[in-house]
Amino acid sequence: MAHVKLHIPGPVEVSPKTFAALASPMIGHRGQGFKDLYAGIQPRLQALLSSRQLVYLSTSSAWGVMEGAIRNLVTKKVLNCMCGAFSDKWLDVSKRCGKAAEALQVPWGSPIRAEQVDAKLATGQFDALTLIHNETSTGTMSPLAEIAALKRKYPDVMFIVDAVSSMTAVPLNFDELGIDVLLAGTQKAFALPPGLAVFVCSPAALAKAATVADRGYYFDFVEFEKNAKENMTPSTPSIPHVYALASKLEEFFAEGLEQRYARQRQTNQQTRDWAARHGFTLYPEAGFESITLTCVNNGARPGGRTIDVAKLQKLAKERGFLIDGGYGKIKGTTFRISNMGDETPETMSTLFAALDDSMQKL
Ligand SMILES: *Cc1c(COP(=O)(O)O)cnc(C)c1O
Repeated sequence: MAHVKLHIPGPVEVSPKTFAALASPMIGHRGQGFKDLYAGIQPRLQALLSSRQLVYLSTSSAWGVMEGAIRNLVTKKVLNCMCGAFSDKWLDVSKRCGKAAEALQVPWGSPIRAEQVDAKLATGQFDALTLIHNETSTGTMSPLAEIAALKRKYPDVMFIVDAVSSMTAVPLNFDELGIDVLLAGTQKAFALPPGLAVFVCSPAALAKAATVADRGYYFDFVEFEKNAKENMTPSTPSIPHVYALASKLEEFFAEGLEQRYARQRQTNQQTRDWAARHGFTLYPEAGFESITLTCVNNGARPGGRTIDVAKLQKLAKERGFLIDGGYGKIKGTTFRISNMGDETPETMSTLFAALDDSMQKL
């Protein structure tokens, strides 16, 4: 069957170069070869996240680390900041871990605002919070720096941040933000296949984790730190992914991070322009639109045009492109187009030519 190129917001399209890296010969995960591989990419991971902390590799999807963060860092009560499908789910996951948890729920498409977080933390009930920087289900970015600034006011609260669909697409300066956990899965903005998560913890998070009982083994942050010091992972990692990550990081730094971020903004602007040209409005609250994907309003909100999304998807697929038909309760009343990963102005133009043609045949 002909390949249908992915423009869904994860997994995203994986390049032949990355697939070739995945096919590197296997090595032992306790041998010097693996240690050299991990040691070789560690400085680049630290540069990517502007951190002096060791960056960990977890063979899991993002949810592994998202759940792990709850197990490692919550003893009193966690505040789950909720503005879409993924961030809403974190409340459920916290409860399933047996933790006391409370929602800070805002309407889908709205960002989380620092004042709202401040008001909740001021109650003194919480020792942790979860925040999704870029809520992929609604295409909404919350103001991370403003929220992170609250850490200075609440130093004992663990700030756990999911950057699954923003890491590598926007600058994330972990040490400067002062937050405690920053994590991502690799099938979104990294443009690697699913199956690996990348994360970093503050010294405070590691100190806290060491005092928390029942944090399990597979996602024990203390184990990750101990092993990372030796350029290893607690258990056998997906070594092909680590090769592919090395290849990807080489590309990021060859392009230059600033250029990469600029490309991301440019390809996102193209997507917004395409939507506007066809009479659509966007779903997120103005000013908080994601720059890695565009969530197009298709009747979820007043204003703008509406179309048969399933039909557009079908027509696009016949032309070799997969776009997303909306997530969860806004399926069909929104649709999403990803510009994450390796996409360039040229590849996006090819997509939009196919979508223009599809729109004519609706
Ligand atoms: C995709 C996504 C997740 C879940 O990732 P999995 O790989 O399915 O574990 C979590 N958070 C955000 C923001 C996402 O986009």
